[in-house]
Parts: sequence; C-alpha cells; structure tokens
Amino acid sequence: MTTGNSPPMFGRIALIGIGLIGSSLSHAIRRAGLADEIAVCTRSQETLDRAAELKLGDSYTTDAAEAVEGADLVILSVPLGAMGTVAKSIKDQLKPGAILTDAGSSKTAVIADISPHIPAGVHFVPGHPIAGTEYSGPDAGFSSLFDHRWCVLTPPTNTDNAAVEKTAAFWRACGSKIEIMDPEHHDKVLAITSHLPQLIAYCIVDTATNLETDLQSEVIKFSASGFQDFTRLAASDPVMWRDVCLKNRTAVLDVLSQFTEDLTAMRRSIRRGEGDHLQEIFTRTRAIRREVIAANKD
Ligand code: NAP
Repeated sequence: MTTGNSPPMFGRIALIGIGLIGSSLSHAIRRAGLADEIAVCTRSQETLDRAAELKLGDSYTTDAAEAVEGADLVILSVPLGAMGTVAKSIKDQLKPGAILTDAGSSKTAVIADISPHIPAGVHFVPGHPIAGTEYSGPDAGFSSLFDHRWCVLTPPTNTDNAAVEKTAAFWRACGSKIEIMDPEHHDKVLAITSHLPQLIAYCIVDTATNLETDLQSEVIKFSASGFQDFTRLAASDPVMWRDVCLKNRTAVLDVLSQFTEDLTAMRRSIRRGEGDHLQEIFTRTRAIRREVIAANKD
C-alpha cells in the first residue's frame, strides 16, 4: 500500500464506522499509501460483509476494541450520538502514543462525549471533514471526496502539537485543506453554513409533501432546479441529521431564531409591497454568491 519508496505515514489505521466517510477514507488512504494496514470496524455484520466485498480494509470486525488494538491512528466515523459509547468501548485497547480523531459534524458536544474516555498518552485531535454527499453506507465512498475540501481540526488547547501536525498532514494527504478552529466557533459557523440549509431543505420538502395528493404530484412533475436542490439535501441520512440537530442544539437554535426573524421581515416586506427593500436584499445575496464561487475556486 505504500507509494514509491517512502514509508507510509501510519502502520495500522483503524476505521471505526465504514459508511460514506469511513469508506471514502479507506479509498483516500489507499490512494495516497498512508498505512501498512487498514482495520475496518462497523456495527452490523451486513455492513461488515459489504465492506469486505468492497475490499475496504485488510481486517474486519464488529468489535471496535479489537480493531483499535495496535492502531497508530483511529478514526471514528459513526453518528454523533454513538461517539461517546464507541470511545468508551475502545479506551482500554488504545495504544499509547496513538492518535484518535473523529469526523463528527458538530464538535463541542462530541468532544465532551469522547474526552472522558481518552487514556493518558493517547492524543485526541477532533476533526470535521467538510465534505459529503446525500448517500450513506460503504458503497457511497470514493477517493476524491475530500479533495480541495476543508477539514477543520478543533484540538483542545493542551493537545500535543506533533499529534495535531500529524493529523493535519494525514488529512492533507487525503486531499483536504486544513483549518484549526475553536470547537464553539466551528459549531456556530457550521450551524449557519450547513445545518440551517439542511433544516430548511427538510422543512420545504416536508411542506410540499403535506400538500394534497394532486398538487403534490404537480410539485414533483414541475420541480425546477431550486426544489430539486432541496430534495437532494433532504435525502440525506436521517440519523446523522437528527444527531446534528441534537448535538449542536444551542448553535442551531440561535441561528434558527435569527433566520425566523429575517423570514418574518421578508414576509412583512412582501405584504407591504416594499419592492425596493426586497430588491436590496436579493442584490446583496447575489453578490455573496459571487464571493462564494470565488472562494471555492481553488
Ligand atoms: P453513514 O454512511 O451512515 O455510516 C455510519 C457508520 O456508523 C456505519 O458504519 C454504521 O454501521 C455505523 N453506526 C451507525 N450507528 C452506530 C451506532 N449506534 N454505534 C456504532 N456504529 C454505528 O455515516 P457517514 O455519513 O459516514 O457519517 C459518519 C460521521 O461523519 C458522522 O458523525 C457525521 O456527522 C460525519 N460527517 C458526515 C458527513 C456526510 O455528509 N455524510 C460529512 C462530514 C462528516 P452499520 O452500518 O454497521 O450499522
């Protein structure tokens, strides 16, 4: 699995959770030759069998403690609500000096859930690859998922620098760009850029499906790209997004309050016929779109 003559960055990497993120990591690790050995662990035998068919690892188990034994890097890619339980189940088998990281979409709560189970000598470097699709499971992964996408690391202040650097180097080798952030700040940023759009998508698609049957079929038949974009988002994994709402509750509620106020103001402008005000908002947002495109060009 090594590329060229240089030794791989890690001996054994344990992937705990082998859905979209875990399987993409397996492909990216192999692409860059980052490990001698990949140990795959997942909760169900069915997913484990599929991971083996797809040859995502070198060894397979449903026992997370067994997977992490001897691992130099352990990556938790399970739903947010399961992070604490999984961390507890592996704590006695983690190798001294190992790096433990996670891919969880919200950070403050996950850090609180995992931290109590980190033994002395093990380096916990929380992470979040800002990359995804609406698909789940081991078949969904692909090697370029992380290419040119941000991976945010949110290490607690006392984290070993070398471990943070090595984790950053790992994600860079998987294709990502790295940003180091405070976990609370991460959660606020992601609440507005990711969690709110997702909730709006769930809400719009749910509102449409609550319309009476004949109108509903018209909605599907004539769905323009705007609605189609929302249905793509709303097809995302329900368990993952349930956990994001619950684990990033404070930041999500804050941003929802702000959004509800802005929506009410927009509704009032429409009711009062304040065209100038509406046009002003729409012009402002158009400029932001150009900035977003420019920022994501590289
Ligand atoms: P996924 O495709 O649904 O895969 C989830 C994996 O976790 C599977 O291996 C599943 O095992 C396992 N799992 C599910 N429930 C579990 C439990 N209660 N205990 C232990 N293992 C459990 O999920 P994903 O999209 O890869 O997401 C994984 C993590 O990455 C989440 O924390 C998410 O917040 C984060 N993330 C996701 C995205 C995204 O766009 N999807 C982007 C960035 C970060 P079985 O199939 O065997 O049950």
